[in-house]
Amino acid sequence: MCFYDMHRFACGDWKWGNFRQHCAKEYRMGETCGMKLVNHTIHVPQKCKICEKVECKQRKRAAEVDRIHRWQREGNKFRASIDKSMDAIANIDVEIRNLNYEMARRRQQIGAQACT
Ligand SMILES: [Zn+2]
Repeated sequence: MCFYDMHRFACGDWKWGNFRQHCAKEYRMGETCGMKLVNHTIHVPQKCKICEKVECKQRKRAAEVDRIHRWQREGNKFRASIDKSMDAIANIDVEIRNLNYEMARRRQQIGAQACT
């Protein structure tokens, strides 16, 4: 087990930071044994990359929804634009779902690691 910094984000997610210290098990210089332990926690005031991406996509989605509402008030004039915007929303939904999967997978791995 070797020691690393841990970056903890505002959203509660975290990632490994810099390597800090070898453990007693690892004698060879410059090598780590592969088991990571927390040396020091660094609190990061921002959200993690994935949460930021999700937020960004949700903002984009909300903007599309606003646009559709505006166009719908104009009657049939913007039919094509509305269809295009609907497609964009469907794509954003897929992207958000994928990010959530990625997030769930990462949190699961971290949970498993914390229990061993
Ligand atoms: Zn996060």
